Amino acid sequence: IKKIAILTSGGDAPGMNPAIRAVVKDALAKNIEPFLVYEGYKGLHEGKIESAKNINVDKYINRGGTFIFSARYPAFKDPAVRQEAKEQLDKLGIDALVVIGGDGSYHGAQLLHEMGVKTIALPGTIDNDITSSDFTIGYDTALNTIIENIDRIRDTMESHSRAAIVEVMGHGCGDLALYSGLATGAEVIVTNECKISPEEIGRIVKEQTEKGKNSIIVIVSEHIYENIHDVAKIVEKISGKGTRGMALEHLQRGGIPTAAERINSARMGMKAVELISEGKSGLAIGIIKGATVATPILEALKIPRTDRTEKTKKFNKLNQA
Ligand code: ATP
Repeated sequence: IKKIAILTSGGDAPGMNPAIRAVVKDALAKNIEPFLVYEGYKGLHEGKIESAKNINVDKYINRGGTFIFSARYPAFKDPAVRQEAKEQLDKLGIDALVVIGGDGSYHGAQLLHEMGVKTIALPGTIDNDITSSDFTIGYDTALNTIIENIDRIRDTMESHSRAAIVEVMGHGCGDLALYSGLATGAEVIVTNECKISPEEIGRIVKEQTEKGKNSIIVIVSEHIYENIHDVAKIVEKISGKGTRGMALEHLQRGGIPTAAERINSARMGMKAVELISEGKSGLAIGIIKGATVATPILEALKIPRTDRTEKTKKFNKLNQA
């Protein structure tokens, strides 16, 4: 392997930059020329590719987002588009590709692997919904961002004896809600596996208030309720407690990557280069029980998510006691 390219695809996530840096620097250390593909699969198709040999990647180690930009590019599902994208790599003599992205990006990576491009995928998404890794790149930073913001919300809710219904991201995976709930002592955590009605939330808020709680925090995963403000209205009506609804939205995606994020991203980036230099392809990198491991992308896409029902119940019980 003489040349290796890297791209970021789908939703951006803090930690992508330190992962790109690790791939670039480790490739250079192994005498492989690294290339940057700008704007994900879109840029790959359009040939937005440049050598990273003389690019200072070190300065991005502590920056959120992705300095090589990301894109959603549905056209990549078209085999003709993918063929043209492969030709862009062939033209430059690039043998291998590292894709950092979510499960959609993994599908694209698998198809490129099947076309003969040596492809390795890294889990880049704040949602922690890639089951071939205990932690996705971006998850730890997003979790810390959510916790910091909920602490702030708690301050004002406490001062006014209010309840807050806070919606967080997760794309169907409850980890951001679950663990931010545990870390902030949220009185109610609602995940996809443990859905409750707004009326039920209202009853718990009333009960918690009667128990002497001044402020109440309710954390809910996205896409469970149609409108968080409507939920807040119902909760206020049933509980009699002033209630505000808010979605943290895209602020969860930004920010300086945490220590754990930088370290895990670097470990996964280095593993990608190691596997590529051994001629491996079609693998997804992850960290499982502390070890950096590789799983065939196709298998990685099929691993079912761990059921978080019991954990949600357990954390709710703890926080409501
Ligand atoms: P996130 O979890 O942050 O949403 P993601 O990688 O799952 O990230 P998607 O928008 O689903 O985000 O996918 C990113 C890109 O991957 C798509 O815009 C498209 O270019 C490519 N892609 C997705 N699915 C496929 C597929 N079935 N075949 C080929 N390419 C795909």
